[in-house]
Amino acid sequence: MGVAIGLPIADAAKKQLAMERRLFFKVCMNCGSKNPLVATRCRKCGRSDSLRLKNRQTGPKK
Ligand SMILES: [Zn+2]
Repeated sequence: MGVAIGLPIADAAKKQLAMERRLFFKVCMNCGSKNPLVATRCRKCGRSDSLRLKNRQTGPKK
């Protein structure tokens, strides 16, 4: 009686989103700074030609 069931599905979706945001970003090859995917230039050194997409696979953990 009175068992409180939360919303584990919604919670999992949030975690998934947070995880993807952490995994998908651009790395500056010049200074090594992480930049958001939407960045067109490095937020640290300002170079626009040094950003490389970094998308690690979410495979099984070792
Ligand atoms: Zn940079």
